[in-house]
Amino acid sequence: MTDYQLIRSKRRSLELRVLEDGRVQVRAPQRAPVRMVQAFVDSRRQWIADQQQRQARRPRQRWQDGAKLAWRGECLQMDVCEGRTRVTVSGPYLSVRVSDPEDEAAVCAAVESWMRRQAKPVFEDSIARQFDWFEQQGFALPTLRIKKMRTRWGSLSARGYINLNMALLHYPPEALDYVVMHELCHLKHMDHGPGFHGLMDARMPDWRERKAILEQPLFQP
Ligand SMILES: [Zn+2]
Repeated sequence: MTDYQLIRSKRRSLELRVLEDGRVQVRAPQRAPVRMVQAFVDSRRQWIADQQQRQARRPRQRWQDGAKLAWRGECLQMDVCEGRTRVTVSGPYLSVRVSDPEDEAAVCAAVESWMRRQAKPVFEDSIARQFDWFEQQGFALPTLRIKKMRTRWGSLSARGYINLNMALLHYPPEALDYVVMHELCHLKHMDHGPGFHGLMDARMPDWRERKAILEQPLFQP
């Protein structure tokens, strides 16, 4: 019998999830009988096993002393020590001070909040360097929002926001610049039609090579 965590919520159907660490979660309507949930899990046993295998094969970012972090196309090695929370880059090392160096969740939180602070000036610089032409065309500078997104690198909203995925910081600057240019071109063309691609070709002739960088897996952490 498969072990699973049952989460009741205001929903109408059952949903099954296999988490990164292989644990199984079932989301169910408030009143769904447990035997019905159990039967559902049993009927999906093969799917669960396949997902767990996939998760186990996938390289996972570790947050501990000696682990690697992809940073703007370089590879930093984490140097985790006990101390007051502080994260700094020195040469090829990412020095991480936390109260408990064995606590991967705490190391992860410290590094992610450091990344978020780095993101703003880096992303703003990329936008500023590429905005001149759009400014000449009379477009208003979009407001930056930095997000953690699962499925997109960025987006541009009609209300004047450019949303960029914090994970772009793992990739080389030329890949980040490509995403920014892509979103800026949406100021003029909201779709991905010939007009949009023509503008991309004019503004950034090598955009396809840059895009390909984002399709490569990062080095194995
Ligand atoms: Zn687009």
